[in-house]
Amino acid sequence: MQFKSIDELEIQGKRLLIRVDFNVPMDENGVITDDARIQATLPTIKYALKQNAKIILTSHLGRPKGAPESKYSLRPVARRLSELLKKEVKLAPDCIGPEVGKMVAAMHPADVILLENLRFHKEEEKNDPAFAKNLASLAEIYINDAFAVSHRAHASVEAVTKYFKEPAAGFLMKEELHYLNKIMVNPARPLAAIIGGGKVSGKLEVLKNLSLRVDKLIIGGGMAFTFLKSAGIEVGKSLVEDELLTTAQEVLESAKKRGVKVYLPIDCVVADRFDPTAQIKVTPVQEIPKDWMGLDIGPATTTLFGEALQNINTILWNGPMGVFEMAPFSRGTFEMVRHIINSGAVSVVGGGDTDLAVHRSGEAQRISYISTAGGAFLELLEGKNLPGVEALKK
Ligand code: AMP
Repeated sequence: MQFKSIDELEIQGKRLLIRVDFNVPMDENGVITDDARIQATLPTIKYALKQNAKIILTSHLGRPKGAPESKYSLRPVARRLSELLKKEVKLAPDCIGPEVGKMVAAMHPADVILLENLRFHKEEEKNDPAFAKNLASLAEIYINDAFAVSHRAHASVEAVTKYFKEPAAGFLMKEELHYLNKIMVNPARPLAAIIGGGKVSGKLEVLKNLSLRVDKLIIGGGMAFTFLKSAGIEVGKSLVEDELLTTAQEVLESAKKRGVKVYLPIDCVVADRFDPTAQIKVTPVQEIPKDWMGLDIGPATTTLFGEALQNINTILWNGPMGVFEMAPFSRGTFEMVRHIINSGAVSVVGGGDTDLAVHRSGEAQRISYISTAGGAFLELLEGKNLPGVEALKK
């Protein structure tokens, strides 16, 4: 790795500013509905506690408009973190300013403070140097453990690093990059990418970049229908982006030129409505009725995709194979999880809904790595440099 991680620094008793991603989902009463992102940062926080560091955590939550809004307060997160750590976590009234400065100055070793939502200041998203300097003035050491926001050049992720001699990665960041390295930089080949989900448009750059890097490209989900239509197949009312038919052909051509093997669905589960109670049947893709839509890959496709994975050493998966949120169209996605596990390959899953789908399959623990990042994971698949990661490479 080209950067330091927390365990390579001398942090004993020091003031540590740790950028975490506590952007957790909450219901309308401010109750956290999924604390996975908080749990994911515990190794870093617990390590810093053992080293008697003074821990100052900082995060954004939701999309406030650059000013305080009580519904975006991190108070529920401070409470939850306090339960998980079994120790007091104080919520600061803001993330910068004299009050916060006083609180930090009064910290004892192994104290934990959570700063209030970074996005209560519009300067955060503007990567403002003065705001970053204020934030940096709270601590002696900066740790980024928020891979999920590292695709954003925001002050707490990018500008802030300029004020520290050795900005470093936390354990979550380190682990994410370790596995992403395994798929994007140094994969054990053959490498297969399984790409699914809704539309081609959201993943065009991902498809273009991957078609240059992988050995096999497996395409399922809604986006497969644009590819099938571009090959002259009538797909009825399935999700199609007509304006991308030529682009889909170009992706297939470019893959072919590089010797990448491409797999598309050969059959699908079709329904007469976008509804779990709709009429449903399985058809070859060539026989999708005019007024029906494909909402999952069919059993023959599942077998085909499973066979394609048998001699693979590394698998990267983004995007469900069908509308997995509705039981009648979830089978293709859940079977895919089974095939990935059975292949014995190193498997890395991430982006958007894919981690949710894998967790619902009940087999999440058998996947090698599930990324906590959505947008950052996709930007990495697009071949982009992530500002938050670049900023650590000093
Ligand atoms: P994405 O965020 O691009 O990974 O898309 C995920 C969404 O794609 C999920 O909510 C799925 O329900 C949806 N999806 C998957 N397959 C299809 C399909 N055949 N038709 C419509 N939507 C689909």
